[in-house]
Amino acid sequence: MDREEILTKGARACIEIAGHWKPPPAVNNKPIFDSDIPLPTHAEAIVAVIEKLTSAEYGVIKNLNEINAVGHRIVHGGPRFSNSVLIDDEVMSALEDCITLAPLHTPANLMGITACKAAIPGVPQVAVFDTAFHHTIPEYAYVYPIPYKYYVENNIRRYGFHGTSHRYVSAKTIEYLCGPAKGTKIITCHLGNGASLAAIEDGICIDTTMGVTPLEGLPMGTRSGSVDPALIEIISGLEGDLSIVKTMNILNKESGVYGVSGVSFDFRDVETAAGIKILTGSKIPGAPVNERASLALDIFNYQVAKHIGAYSAIMGGLDALVFTAGVGENSPYTRLGICQPLKGLGIIVDRVKNAFRGTDVLVDISGENSKVKVLVIPTNEELVIAWDTMAIVGH
Ligand code: ADP
Repeated sequence: MDREEILTKGARACIEIAGHWKPPPAVNNKPIFDSDIPLPTHAEAIVAVIEKLTSAEYGVIKNLNEINAVGHRIVHGGPRFSNSVLIDDEVMSALEDCITLAPLHTPANLMGITACKAAIPGVPQVAVFDTAFHHTIPEYAYVYPIPYKYYVENNIRRYGFHGTSHRYVSAKTIEYLCGPAKGTKIITCHLGNGASLAAIEDGICIDTTMGVTPLEGLPMGTRSGSVDPALIEIISGLEGDLSIVKTMNILNKESGVYGVSGVSFDFRDVETAAGIKILTGSKIPGAPVNERASLALDIFNYQVAKHIGAYSAIMGGLDALVFTAGVGENSPYTRLGICQPLKGLGIIVDRVKNAFRGTDVLVDISGENSKVKVLVIPTNEELVIAWDTMAIVGH
């Protein structure tokens, strides 16, 4: 591969979120294929996507022989996978061992791999793990203070997620700082529907907010993030002895920005309800303000700021603070709201430079007197998957 060019993009969304689904933008002047078709299994979905790659109208390759390798984003690599790997039978069975750690995602990942093997047999496949970048976190930061046997016997520990994204934007930041990775102190804020921070010293991750599952840490679109664990018992009781599964569902799907605001999990809707102009992040004079929407955004910003403070303290300083993912790249209100209380740490945002939504390139929004570089970097998880796949497959 001599170019890092996106030939086409695609996604298959499940019917439950059809109301919110928007197809990716057109690439290469090809028309967008957007259709509601029954794709009951992952295998059928993969076949449908591969079929489109070679179709006369939407296709970007002549035939399937042009595919040299497939890279898969695998959500949980468990304790074993600290790097991307070529998928073979042994790796498949190790991934099956990870099902208990990510019961919602791993079976779907396995189905995707099996479906690709069947659709394009003999083509090498590579697994790129969302957890891998965080494998450098020290033991004292990843072992939970619960009975030790759960760590030793059941692999219960902090893993962290969004690793490909944190890795990509931290590498771009080190490039931007124009020096060696050694000596750099960076915090990356991946703020999307799911949200996590990573503390990165010398280019190596030393802590992250998500845990054994992506529920821990920051409040998110619909997830509570870290709360008093006793809430599980209390909420279950309040709902008439609700089962653990249903109680966890409340923390995963009915909480966070959505749970507090009652408006939406989508920050655009919540900002609009709070009387904020989403393009600039400024208050719309005279606009009605939904107080719960406003509070939900304040809670989110406060928790992100608090963790930035903690990570800066642990690293003994900060060179760069990076915003990425849907909210980080698009919400000037969130970026400013997070940074405002952090002036004491030398974090100052230039309001004019910050007043933009979405970008294809790195944007430096640091204020003139900011001691810390404040950057917005569009993440590119697909590119990291392609890099690793190329490196492993070797052509
Ligand atoms: P994920 O990959 O975790 O599903 P994304 O990184 O794609 O999430 O982020 C999606 C979220 O980005 C949306 O739910 C929305 O809240 C947020 N978003 C996108 N554009 C804007 C915007 N202009 N202002 C505020 N939030 C935005």
